[in-house]
Amino acid sequence: MSEAPTRNDRLPPPVIVWLRRDLRIDDNPALVAAAESGGPVIPVYIHDEDTAGRWAVGGAGRWWLGRSLAALAGVLAERGASLVLRRGVAAAVIADLVAETGARAVVWNRCHEPFAVARDAAIAEALAARGIAVRAFDAALLHDPGRVATRSGGPFQSFAQFWRECQSLPPPGPPLAAPARFTGPERLVLSEELVALGLAPSRPDWAEGLASAWSPGSVSAVARLEEFIDRRLAAYHLTRNDPDRGGTSRLSPHLGVGEISPRQVVHAIHTRGEGLPAEPFLRELYWREFSYHLLHHRPDMPDVPLRPEFADFPWAEDSEESESLARWTAGRTGYPIVDAGMRALWHTGWMHNRARLIVASFLVKDLLLPWQLGEAWFWESLVDADLAVNAVNWQWVAGCGVDAAPYFRIFNPVLQGEKFDPRGRYVRRWLPELEHMPDMFIHRPWEAPPAVLAKAGVVLDRDYPRPIVDHALARRRALSAYQQALRQTPPHPTLSPEEGERAF
Ligand code: FAD
Repeated sequence: MSEAPTRNDRLPPPVIVWLRRDLRIDDNPALVAAAESGGPVIPVYIHDEDTAGRWAVGGAGRWWLGRSLAALAGVLAERGASLVLRRGVAAAVIADLVAETGARAVVWNRCHEPFAVARDAAIAEALAARGIAVRAFDAALLHDPGRVATRSGGPFQSFAQFWRECQSLPPPGPPLAAPARFTGPERLVLSEELVALGLAPSRPDWAEGLASAWSPGSVSAVARLEEFIDRRLAAYHLTRNDPDRGGTSRLSPHLGVGEISPRQVVHAIHTRGEGLPAEPFLRELYWREFSYHLLHHRPDMPDVPLRPEFADFPWAEDSEESESLARWTAGRTGYPIVDAGMRALWHTGWMHNRARLIVASFLVKDLLLPWQLGEAWFWESLVDADLAVNAVNWQWVAGCGVDAAPYFRIFNPVLQGEKFDPRGRYVRRWLPELEHMPDMFIHRPWEAPPAVLAKAGVVLDRDYPRPIVDHALARRRALSAYQQALRQTPPHPTLSPEEGERAF
């Protein structure tokens, strides 16, 4: 008499889905391929701090990641799959999992960070040597960053050209539907508890502000996208620059860990947002694509200026211990719009793009500190910290990147505040000590007459600091440093202090 078939005799072998920056079930080609194999699906997240080296996820990003993994586990469980969490060096963990589960295939969606590209290639090779099938899919970007190329096959040096080229390519297809149901493995695959990954801050727990500002997870990401399209997209081009207007999508942290794909975003913009003026928003999304395009061609971009003449730039100092860096990070520079941005970052893990531009310009040009110090602080503090996008933007502000702002355009933090926060709402929200300053002095409290300060209840240097630098002097110092580095004479000798403002 033959034995009754076991479940394993009928099912194809298990497939491991290695999830990384694709923490969603919609539009997830690796998950779809695993489900379509007909075999048990084992979704795995590996917390590997070693392989990423100095670009391991920062503090705010870890907080987000923990919440996002919890949300993903819930979504997967509803469809019959159990998220496996492991810690350790990814190559070793994957090898162990293959041995434990009898999986014959490992699938993933590509990551584009240089360390991840190298890691994945090595793991794919090791698996292939053991006869394990590996399939990698594209899901993080709209276009493969290496395949968009100039006629000579090189990278684009300007966003405008990159954007034009992308518009001429076939549009990204519609997003993939999530698999309706997953088959689980016959035997339980052991998982770490989420808390064991140590992602949430404990002593002290500084994440209260993050928790009240954000709701990580793919369900929230889709809800945020829909709300943005319904309520904000129509006026995006008018409101996107005002830090207090809430005119942007705030999708960046969701996109960062892949709770939503750019393809889902574009598809929703064209369907749900049909007829609305979407180009200004799509251009921003394509800045994200452009950032990865540049990182693909210049993997050293997070550390090294793209323009070689900036290699020996005469920075004021480059110490992480410097007093000016400490005041910048703490939001105590004495320039209210800069300090508001930095405190918003500290409390919520996010900063409006206009504020990012202003604080970055202040660090690099007014304080003359290396852009890499600001990049590192953002990396640690942003819930949307992204290796490619962060590096491209810091280099852009510093003037050493591709398509960068001309060096002689130096933001005046007072004029920027008055232009983009004319009623001082953003400043008052984040600097309660200036709540009662009249609009006229909200961006320049040190110029307020004593009676005005007294009425507003502000004692300078007790409640709020005087400016750390005199902007006019700092501007001259920056111009001369840039001219020295670039060995240039000023292109516009008569340029007034405000002139650089106008182009922005
Ligand atoms: P929206 O205006 O709604 O834009 C939609 C999406 O387009 C964003 O979610 C983002 O994915 C992309 N996008 C928008 N602006 C840019 C830009 N300038 N460059 C590339 N992509 C963009 N963004 C990050 O996601 N991670 C970072 O680490 C990061 N670091 C930055 C550092 C500096 C110095 C500066 C000036 C900007 C940085 N940005 C970064 C870009 C930008 O500030 C944020 O993407 C944006 O503020 C996110 O808000 P949002 O989702 O509401 O954007």
